[in-house]
Amino acid sequence: MQTRNLIGGQWVGALSGREEPVNDPATDEQIAMVPHGGSLDARAAIEAAYDALGGWQQRTANERAKLLHRLAALMLERQERLAVLMTREQGKPLAESRGEIGYAASFIEWAAEEGKRLYGEIIPASHADKRILVLRQPVGVTACITPWNFPAAMITRKLGPALAAGCTMVVKPAPQTPLSAIALGELSIEAGIPAGVVNIITGDAEAIGDELLSNPVVRKLSFTGSTGVGKLLMAKAAQNLTRLSLELGGHAPFIVFDDADLDAAVQGAMATKFRNMGQTCICANRFLVQDRIYDAFVGKLLEVVKGLKVGRGSDAGVHVGPLINDAAVQKVEAQVEDAKAKGARVLAGGCRWAGPAGLSNRFFQPTVIDGFTDDMLINRQETFGPVAPLRRFTTEGEALRLANDSIYGLSAYFYTRDAGRLMRVAEGLEYGIIGANDGGPSTVQAPFGGMKQSGFGREGGKYVMSEYVEIKYVSWGGVGSA
Ligand code: NAP
Repeated sequence: MQTRNLIGGQWVGALSGREEPVNDPATDEQIAMVPHGGSLDARAAIEAAYDALGGWQQRTANERAKLLHRLAALMLERQERLAVLMTREQGKPLAESRGEIGYAASFIEWAAEEGKRLYGEIIPASHADKRILVLRQPVGVTACITPWNFPAAMITRKLGPALAAGCTMVVKPAPQTPLSAIALGELSIEAGIPAGVVNIITGDAEAIGDELLSNPVVRKLSFTGSTGVGKLLMAKAAQNLTRLSLELGGHAPFIVFDDADLDAAVQGAMATKFRNMGQTCICANRFLVQDRIYDAFVGKLLEVVKGLKVGRGSDAGVHVGPLINDAAVQKVEAQVEDAKAKGARVLAGGCRWAGPAGLSNRFFQPTVIDGFTDDMLINRQETFGPVAPLRRFTTEGEALRLANDSIYGLSAYFYTRDAGRLMRVAEGLEYGIIGANDGGPSTVQAPFGGMKQSGFGREGGKYVMSEYVEIKYVSWGGVGSA
């Protein structure tokens, strides 16, 4: 496969000639070298995206949709190969990588159809000889910067709607997982998407980001990543008032009320907590469990957690693979040690997993912690690891207060069988995505995005298209009368 940047339909190295390695997090083995591009490479990609813009906009939505459907079909046709590649560079279990490719293709398919529905409007005017027209037009050259935890889906969530709306795009993937992005670039060419419509550059994030936000040709940047970097980018976007979508970090509460179906709650907890080794932005980060059923819930959760198999993502039956890098494991360790020092009890796991020879030391055991408190790091910082901390609450009001006590507002979960409570709690939670008796709310049809310091903008559903269109108003005078 290709390992170079895609600029204007050409596969090229960095202008500086520099390269950087891509490693398998499970073994530390180097699997490829990719270009370490910088601002000049970004500029070339922006120019290529600009050159391609006119031709792409002139195509009809139907023509663009056909090409996007072809791209999605190719992704599904090559699902196994793409999944193996993803597990290799990212570490997640193969079954999850297969799932991600399907999920990633669904964003392209969905956007292809939504692009056909970018309707305008005619609004009644207050003068008889005027008409008010509203047009929805592509914003122009767009860019995205994406994280490593979902190496394909975080790109297609942006690329699909941008292309469907008639925009071109420069993609800057995470350095840990550039190969999945490059593979998508290869498929975009095979699907017949014209040169320059999709450009991919790997390299120095700050230099590339600075160029994307200082170059006036770029009209929109969609970023998925940490809240810290999101804030930096927002400050830089002020230069040209570049439009932004920010999909940032989270710290999801998971509330179990005493009227909940406990087995369903445990199943939901497992789905949201341990998928991708706990490295998802909508991952449950704090479990709030009502007093009366606390012990029963913990008992059932422990039973399932202790059955999780840790190992290399490519090995059969593995549920929990390696964390992405050393810093990620150190962060999880620090949170667990801090919780222990402040009085929490480790009920399962609590330390690294030592696997067979040849594996890296980036594996962390699935962990359950009893009795976390307000002052612990784990109660505030995004964990991004396979650790489930629990605490008790007594009343619905207390649960809501604890749940909302966070700078983040991305996702929240709760389990109850009381319909009135379901509505009250869903309305009371200050989060953009709510799993009510559901541990897996992400789906292409729904608006995905956060509140507070989890960012703004929505991806998915009909809502995503508005991120890539400008609304233009034409006041049409002199219509006269017959
Ligand atoms: P990150 O450190 O913020 O990095 C995300 C991307 O930004 C990477 O491509 C990174 O490249 C780049 N970047 C870093 N500093 C930059 C700068 N100064 N200018 C321009 N680009 C810069 O986040 P991550 O660790 O990769 O991903 C995990 C985070 O993403 C978590 O906080 C998670 O919650 C969040 N996330 C959010 C969503 C959502 O939809 N809300 C979805 C998935 C993940 P380098 O690594 O080369 O610096």
